[in-house]
Amino acid sequence: MKNSTRKPAFIPSMYCSLFGHDYEISKKVTKHVKEYTCCHCKKELTTNSNGNLIELTPKFKEINNILERIHESRMRRLKRKSFASSIC
Ligand SMILES: [Zn+2]
Repeated sequence: MKNSTRKPAFIPSMYCSLFGHDYEISKKVTKHVKEYTCCHCKKELTTNSNGNLIELTPKFKEINNILERIHESRMRRLKRKSFASSIC
């Protein structure tokens, strides 16, 4: 009779509390602002305006989305500018 073969469920957050979170960059918002996700418990962090890591709340997600859009349009403008100056 094999009754005790069931492995205990692996709790990712327990791993994190023992070994610490294992953050990976999940999104590059701007050159300085990035979003990080823990590959074990999926906890999300982001860089705030002071360069500190903080929890990625829905509010910060929104801010990052706006930042990303501003950053993108700025980069596009920069590219167009350098292209224009290269033909002049
Ligand atoms: Zn974690």
